[in-house]
Amino acid sequence: ISSPSPDYLDRLNPEQREAIETTEGPLLILAGAGTGKTRVLTTRFAHILLNGRARPWQILAVTFTNKAAREMRERVAALLGETIDGLWLGTFHALCARMLRRHAEYVGLTTGFTILDTDDQLRLVRQIMEPYRIDTKRWPPQGLLGVFQRWKDRGLTPAQVTPAEDTDFAAGHARALYAAYQERLRAVNACDFGDLMLHMLEILRTQPDVLAQYHRLFRYILVDEYQDTNTIQYLWLRLLAKRPEGAPNIACVGDDDQSIYSWRGAEVENILRFEKDFPGARVVRLERNYRSTAQILRAASGLIAHNADRLGKTLRPGSDDARGEKVQVISVWDSDEEARIAAGAIERLRAEGHPLSQIAILMRAGFQTRPFEERFLTLGLPYRVVGGLRFYERAEIRDAMAYMRVLVQPADDLAFERIVNVPKRGIGAAGLQKLHHTARGIGAPLAAGVLHALETGALKGKQREALATLMDAFERARALREREGHVVAMEMLLEESGYLQMWRDDRSPEAPGRLDNIKELLRAIGDFGTLEGFLEHVALVTETEDQASSDTVSLMTLHGAKGLEFDTVFLPGWEEGVFPSQRSLDEGGLKSLEEERRLAYVGITRARRRAVILHAARRRIYANWQDSIPSRFIAEIPDDAIEQSGQALQERIQLTARNSVFANGPIRGTTRPFRKLTDVREEIAAPLPVGTRVFHQKFGYGTVLEVEGDRLHINFEKAGEKRIMAHFVEQVS
Ligand code: ATP
Ligand code: MG
Repeated sequence: ISSPSPDYLDRLNPEQREAIETTEGPLLILAGAGTGKTRVLTTRFAHILLNGRARPWQILAVTFTNKAAREMRERVAALLGETIDGLWLGTFHALCARMLRRHAEYVGLTTGFTILDTDDQLRLVRQIMEPYRIDTKRWPPQGLLGVFQRWKDRGLTPAQVTPAEDTDFAAGHARALYAAYQERLRAVNACDFGDLMLHMLEILRTQPDVLAQYHRLFRYILVDEYQDTNTIQYLWLRLLAKRPEGAPNIACVGDDDQSIYSWRGAEVENILRFEKDFPGARVVRLERNYRSTAQILRAASGLIAHNADRLGKTLRPGSDDARGEKVQVISVWDSDEEARIAAGAIERLRAEGHPLSQIAILMRAGFQTRPFEERFLTLGLPYRVVGGLRFYERAEIRDAMAYMRVLVQPADDLAFERIVNVPKRGIGAAGLQKLHHTARGIGAPLAAGVLHALETGALKGKQREALATLMDAFERARALREREGHVVAMEMLLEESGYLQMWRDDRSPEAPGRLDNIKELLRAIGDFGTLEGFLEHVALVTETEDQASSDTVSLMTLHGAKGLEFDTVFLPGWEEGVFPSQRSLDEGGLKSLEEERRLAYVGITRARRRAVILHAARRRIYANWQDSIPSRFIAEIPDDAIEQSGQALQERIQLTARNSVFANGPIRGTTRPFRKLTDVREEIAAPLPVGTRVFHQKFGYGTVLEVEGDRLHINFEKAGEKRIMAHFVEQVS
């Protein structure tokens, strides 16, 4: 197997090879965007196997997203020439879920435990808040879940949260509520997403046998995006890595400049601590960027250089001659024009033969997708919102999955609650209360309580009839599942329970689509061996998994784009208050601004060939239009790495030029190259002499009192005297 230089190593540079061939001992790869960190990790995985150093299941490989896990699995398969099952390769949560199924009993669960979604979590947290009579307007359940999650991110069980840790939240009851919440989860044999890690950490900490078992199993550990691990992930990794039999073979790759999850508890310090945690660690730096053109790298490097708090790394382009296009900065009027211009550019790229799958629009915030979606729908441009409104979040899918959960696990009270009155079975809040009471009375789950109530004749009339039908459907579906498989059983369950009929009877325009969705769900179930396997899959899916129609433009958040690459990247909304976000500005700290800047760096470095930054002159906040100022990040990009253009600037010039000395000047024609924003501003300011009557979106009509460079001192008729950037006002005659 081991020829001196197998060809999968041939194509790599010496530093990359070193990082791959140093399989023994701790290793940290610290390098900038696009330097091949992920590629090194993947090749290292294959290298270990090809050299017979470990069996496939003896390598633990952690990725940041499911998508990254899938890509790594594919790349390893390509390098090895075969697909291998049973790999311990996935996100922290997916890996922990798999482990926890094996050891659930140590934390009071059984192996069939349910992983709750946000809806279920909320329902549960509302229930536990009730007896405390907490003002949920002041302390919303979501906020309380956030408090729990932050404790979980730090690896704290309720018992480990000290009174000093308690927050003001929920009038000082947060700790008690946390304990109650965890207790309740256990009672219904469920856990939330954070518990997957919390429980596994607890087990590894308290069960030496289990820990030893994993120490024997995992000979090698590989971790991508190490800069974004939070405390609990770090603790979990360290426990698994620190084997008694000598230095651990743990390889972590990361880039401090791409640490963008501190708001979720990520600790970039974990990288800095690596050499202390693992004495004798080798540190490899990669400097050659193979992803982006020299222009894009210059823009990105110039931008991130404005951060004070960084380790500092060099990034060199893969080849010096590939200078490529400059980063474009386009000024637009508003978000509709922003979408129009981006969509137009995408259509041109498409006509030139560029695949849509190589184009992404990366947003700072979710709300930004809407105008783009509308524009794409109008044009018939296929797109998808990655990580947004997902299939599994649609109501009918969640209902159907709740039926599925009850089928699999009759003790799943939360799922049962969701469907007990869907379709309507005459069970209101009071009816449900009664059923809960019955269940508690016999110390059984809700479903068993219903059966009991049916037997004892406690239920009457329509309720009795409807619930009898429902329970009968579940029972027959369970039998059918044994005989004919889970797809047939699910189909029958949704039919006999009246759920499908409910949508058939529904006259709303969405109803047919919903039935189609359910059909699609049943099809998806067929791809899995068991319902349990399917439920687990869905619980772990954090992004859209439809690879089927792959030639679509991707819309996603900058956070979701980490580790990915596209030929062309559009970066809309580069305005103060959008990006950097208003929140980061309000907080005012350098730390949050630097994190925003890292996010901008991540955005630009996703582009292989083309990066387009857009900023709008005004933006609607609820009902009001507000002038916006171009993001400071634009000014921080070196001048000679960008090219500015834009309708907004252009039309401003024309508008003012028409009534000015420039009226017949060179500006009229729109084909002339655009100038830098500052030049243009001066141009606009110049032809607005003292006494000019102007109009401003927000302040209305006024008269210029004084010209101060690109600012005008204006006396507004309604709003009084203000100093305004010249390009925000229009001359009126
Ligand atoms: P990020 O920080 O954004 O996660 P990364 O450091 O993980 O980036 P990769 O995604 O592994 O970088 O690599 C970036 C691109 O460069 C990929 O398309 C990869 O295939 C390519 N690449 C990496 N190393 C080489 C090489 N030696 N020769 C040619 N292409 C390479
Ligand atoms: Mg990567």
